[in-house]
Amino acid sequence: MSESQRPLHVACPQCRKKVAWREDNPYRPFCSQRCRLLDLGAWADGSHRIAGEPAMDETEIDEMILRAERGLQDDGQE
Ligand SMILES: [Zn+2]
Repeated sequence: MSESQRPLHVACPQCRKKVAWREDNPYRPFCSQRCRLLDLGAWADGSHRIAGEPAMDETEIDEMILRAERGLQDDGQE
């Protein structure tokens, strides 16, 4: 009677190990913190980067957004 309670299983993106998708697994969809960090490290490393695409920093994006917002607000003042 508790079929909806059955945990969903996903394959860890890093090591392909079956891992239960549970609320109490803070590393999901990874099986462990190690795999999660490994994947994040791969991103930081650039191995996930698309060839030919310029890498953009999060701070750069934030600045762009800020500048765009300011630009809209200040438009027509000078
Ligand atoms: Zn894993």
